Amino acid sequence: MKKSMKPESLMMSYGYKPELSEGAIKCPIFLTSTFVFKSAEEGKAYFELAYGKREKLPGEEMGLIYSRINNPDLEILENRLRLWDGADDCAVFESGMSAISTVLLEFLKPGDLLLYSSPTYGGTDHFINHFLPKIGVHTVGFTSEMDAQEITDAIKATGHADRLQHVHLETPANPTNSLIDIEMVRSVVDQFSRADEPVTVAVDNTYMGPLWQHPLKHGADLVMYSATKYIGGHSDLIAGAVLGNADLMLRVKTLRTFLGNMASPHTGWMLLRSLETLKIRMEAMQANAQKVAAFLNDHPKVASIKYLGLIEEGTRNYDIYKRQCAGPGAMVSFLIKGGEPEAFKFLNSLQLVKLAVSLGGTESLAEHPKSMTHAGVDDEHLEHIGVTDALVRLSIGVEHHEDLIWDISQALDAVTIPENAMA
Ligand SMILES: *Cc1c(COP(=O)(O)O)cnc(C)c1O
Repeated sequence: MKKSMKPESLMMSYGYKPELSEGAIKCPIFLTSTFVFKSAEEGKAYFELAYGKREKLPGEEMGLIYSRINNPDLEILENRLRLWDGADDCAVFESGMSAISTVLLEFLKPGDLLLYSSPTYGGTDHFINHFLPKIGVHTVGFTSEMDAQEITDAIKATGHADRLQHVHLETPANPTNSLIDIEMVRSVVDQFSRADEPVTVAVDNTYMGPLWQHPLKHGADLVMYSATKYIGGHSDLIAGAVLGNADLMLRVKTLRTFLGNMASPHTGWMLLRSLETLKIRMEAMQANAQKVAAFLNDHPKVASIKYLGLIEEGTRNYDIYKRQCAGPGAMVSFLIKGGEPEAFKFLNSLQLVKLAVSLGGTESLAEHPKSMTHAGVDDEHLEHIGVTDALVRLSIGVEHHEDLIWDISQALDAVTIPENAMA
């Protein structure tokens, strides 16, 4: 075999041995709760490894024990997901939220301080602001406008800088596409690291999928996904994933074993199938999104557009984008001229694009962040981060771009912009 094949070349075969499954070219769904040991000695050896009681012997492989701990569909999926981010190890979860909450629970303990970027996904925001304080974890948020000094000051102002332990980043942020400089945050928090307990940095990379941004290469320790989105890609499942180095992933996987929030074999199998087309789906979506964004950018009823492909050159955001992202992605947000009535008229007039939350699926979706995905965020903060009544978010799918633009165009035609908003 050629040494360094690209991930897309390996998604159909990597880590699967047909001879172990009657020669089936595709990995079967291993709908089984438990696995038969060849001998009591073998069962004992597997448990010794599972509980970290001893190191693996040369050439020894961990065997299958019980589907909460390991299952062939999940192991093969994890090995394939590793390839995209160049990670040592991966753990798949039953949802993006379970991936994120498991990481927060593993790397924070009572008295610790969490630094997080804002805006962040609504569910994550809720967990950070409503659950973590109940177990005595302190939290401090920062926005994409803040520089290294301002973030440092914000950490110190909490009075818990000596307990800074973990960082949760989401970039580009949902729904505004605002960017966080991962390397900059890494260097800020390293000032607070202690030799015995270094600060860990985790990035929610859902918006860029595993194709357009690789946070581990920019100083992150862990990368997390809602696999419900681009990785699953067909709007037919809920799942999550975490990737990182072997030591950190051992901690994540151990907590997963005891929370029992791993994905099911069936979901694992669905994701294996999705991974075969990950790259071509994402590239088709991105090519469509670039065309849709260009159309919206020139439209008289559009006040402004938030798309990575249209960031002005020479700005700080452009610099971060060029360093951190391999492409502009397929999430396009825009401000319609007017407010909620105009945004709603547009959404209600779409025919091909579906009115639904979620993103990254083959079909294009549209939604109103302020009243839907971000309804839980307080009003003042929404204004501050640019989530207004006029904001519409689009997730662009794999349809023909001419049909998408026709649909968006006719929906905009149906909107009457009030005189005072037209200027
Ligand atoms: C959807 C989403 C999540 C949550 O994932 P689920 O699979 O719905 O649990 C987390 N972060 C981002 C950025 C998301 O878009």
